[in-house]
Amino acid sequence: MSQEAEQEQSDRKKYEFRKVIEDLKNYEGSGTQLVTIYVPEDRQISDVVAHVTQEHSEAANIKSKQTRTNVQDALTSIKDRLRYYDTYPPENGIVLFSGAVDSGGGQTEMVTKVLESPPQPVESFRYHCDSDFLTEPLEEMLADKGLYGLVVLDRREANVGWLKGKRIEPVKSASSLVPGKQRKGGQSAQRFARLRLEAIDNFYQEVAGMANDLFVPKRHNVDGILVGGPSPTKDEFLDGDYLHHEIQDKVIGKFDVAYTDESGLKDLVDNAEDALADAEVMKDKQVMEEFFEELNAGELATYGFEQTRENLVMGSVDRLLISEDLRKDVISYACTECGNTDREVLDRRKSTPEHTCSECGVDVEATDEDREDAIDHLIEIAEQRGTETKFISTDFEKGEQLYNAFGGFAGLLRYNTGV
Ligand SMILES: [Zn+2]
Repeated sequence: MSQEAEQEQSDRKKYEFRKVIEDLKNYEGSGTQLVTIYVPEDRQISDVVAHVTQEHSEAANIKSKQTRTNVQDALTSIKDRLRYYDTYPPENGIVLFSGAVDSGGGQTEMVTKVLESPPQPVESFRYHCDSDFLTEPLEEMLADKGLYGLVVLDRREANVGWLKGKRIEPVKSASSLVPGKQRKGGQSAQRFARLRLEAIDNFYQEVAGMANDLFVPKRHNVDGILVGGPSPTKDEFLDGDYLHHEIQDKVIGKFDVAYTDESGLKDLVDNAEDALADAEVMKDKQVMEEFFEELNAGELATYGFEQTRENLVMGSVDRLLISEDLRKDVISYACTECGNTDREVLDRRKSTPEHTCSECGVDVEATDEDREDAIDHLIEIAEQRGTETKFISTDFEKGEQLYNAFGGFAGLLRYNTGV
């Protein structure tokens, strides 16, 4: 799979996950009866089943009969789902949710959801039984964007590592043989200074080699490189072009840090907070700039659900732009009288309205099957036509405009279709 396709798939997956989480957050159990289990990929399924069995028998001690029954039902349902897996869970693990939720009017309804392969690995096994589902760890994963390379150095030591979402991963360290500023007796000052500069240069080369080894193979997935250290070390290091040129081009900033050991990596990330926030929306900003340029002076922009859809069907859309905050359904009203199909986009919480065919005026009924998630509807067409889908954040002005002024749907075209 190409990297872009991979990225696209993960964007779509994130969208699917976000939807499920929003649903789960709305549920409430009447007692401590909603079960959530996070399973890392290296945890054997049989271990999880054993744990669930154990919890099931312990639940027998719950005093309230209703809560006891509900918890045991939830656990049984989870055990049923676990039977679909072999020895280990799929990549990045699984998260299971099950429980009897309030469905209004004193009634409860059993809900079971399984999320496979979240965008980041599940880090540790967690069993959670409460009056709501535990969604925070998943939400954090979804908020996590980006992969950044980290380098901290002074003339004595250096550390390189990754920032993956919010996680800092130290990978390698080096220490130098650069002599202190004080020369030994009998050494000429000139010779000492030259040797010292050579040692510094060697150390920078070693650090760059370490950084290049780590970052170059991932250079197409890396969103940026952060460099930290005291002055003038980090400046010398960057100005001296020690890094591979493709890595050098990805440096998004240099920052003062107090330490250059592993804790310096954390220091670096803390100090780079603003630069990281900018970098996160940078790609979104660029594509929206392009959209507005086309809108104002070109002819390769389209927006609104119906126009965007029509262009998509024709295969003329290069990139489909969807606002990340959008939660809409689309209803397709297929008229049996004249064969025309009208579509209406509406808020997810609104019920399906009555409709008369725009061509022949006959009343058209829509069933549940005629109603679907508007984003899924467009992405499905996009995938058939080889169109790339981009979710655009609303954390910047033009991103907000996509949501407010353009209905959340837009496209950059390969060629103008006159639609
Ligand atoms: Zn009709």
